[in-house]
Amino acid sequence: MTAPQDVRAGRARELDRAHIFHSWSAQAGLDPMTVVTGRGCEVVDEDGRTYLDFSSQLVNLNIGHGHPRVVAAIQEQAGLLATVAPGYANLARGEAAERILSHAPDGFTKVFFTNGGADANENAIRMARLHTGRDKVISFYRSYHGNTGAAIVATGDWRRVPNEYARGHVHVFGPFLYRSEFWASTEAEECERALHHLERVVQAEGPSSVAAILLETVVGTGGVLVPPPGYLPGVREIADRYGIVLILDEVMAGFGRTGSWFALDQHDVVPHLITFAKGVNSGYVPAGGVILSAEISATFDDRVFPGGLTYSGHPLAMASIVAALDAMAEEGVVENAARIGEDVLGPGLRTLAARHPLVGEVRGTGVFWALDLVLDRSTREPVPAAEVVAMRAALAARGLLAFVADNRIHVVPPCVVTDQEVARALAIYDEVLTDAEERLL
Ligand code: PLP
Repeated sequence: MTAPQDVRAGRARELDRAHIFHSWSAQAGLDPMTVVTGRGCEVVDEDGRTYLDFSSQLVNLNIGHGHPRVVAAIQEQAGLLATVAPGYANLARGEAAERILSHAPDGFTKVFFTNGGADANENAIRMARLHTGRDKVISFYRSYHGNTGAAIVATGDWRRVPNEYARGHVHVFGPFLYRSEFWASTEAEECERALHHLERVVQAEGPSSVAAILLETVVGTGGVLVPPPGYLPGVREIADRYGIVLILDEVMAGFGRTGSWFALDQHDVVPHLITFAKGVNSGYVPAGGVILSAEISATFDDRVFPGGLTYSGHPLAMASIVAALDAMAEEGVVENAARIGEDVLGPGLRTLAARHPLVGEVRGTGVFWALDLVLDRSTREPVPAAEVVAMRAALAARGLLAFVADNRIHVVPPCVVTDQEVARALAIYDEVLTDAEERLL
């Protein structure tokens, strides 16, 4: 794969530094790499260098770059109808909802489309509040739910803004045995104590004031935290006990990343609402939404849902969802993610951990993994974030794009990744860990 010939080296960077205001950053001193084109798990920069994309951009590229079927579907739909208001019926929209619902648990009947994950959570919170007539939303400290009004207050990590920007948000600690807040030494203990903590917070807040519990099925940016068996069913029991709506955020975990269509498929839990975005069409066109159970949907049979967006169910997004989900089903993309996780990537990362004292824990599933980096395995002291950012640069210099957060490298390739690509990536991680250990240990 090569970059188109008319790409002038340096031009994209020049324009970026002149005119682009970047997310999550102080603007001075930024020097982003360029990306010109991509195919599968690889991208090419403006100097013609190829990189393995083991970040899946922002963990949204489940089907890989440049899938011909998705590209063709977008082109065809653009020729037919490039935009339509949400109030009209449109075949692409209906088919996208039908495909999404075919992968959801029984009892989910409707889809409300948004432009991405944050507005999906925003609207799910609103549905829960209207359904219950209550106000508060409980979410995890270790979580990310998006960067809009309520979603960023529900977020628990460093990006959370103070509560005065949105009413009634409360945070709890979720299960995370490696860095347990509950002094637990087994998964079963961690699970039981985290559930007890959640229920006590519900009681202390006043159950009749709690509208929703909003959780990522598998916490993504907060550390790839797969909940212990029994935790999510336990949360559903608490929700039912107090008449609370359970919203599972599958924005990052959904559509194959964990090796199943939804992460919740592996956890014996059915929520009231599911939010999605990213992997549903791998971000080829911005799209997200809320999947409603019949119970929540019925609330709005005779009552107006006071929400909507100009681009809700945008035809290009819808056509790309249909094509992406059909291609994923026919090409066994979800099965590939499961097999890679089980047989290749998981074992490969564990082998790396056995060789490298810097790796305190490897955790994950499917193509959704984190290396929790520590200066000392006995104290579990995290590697400083600045060092991990330096490791990301070292990985890029060797041809691998990585996703890093706090003291962690997240290993999150597209679901279509091959055994050979995993082998190449593992060799690069190995080299960079060796260099970092020479510096840090
Ligand atoms: N929820 C989760 C779990 C996410 O990981 C993200 C984005 O990373 C969001 C919501 C927000 O999605 P978006 O950036 O599309 O608004």
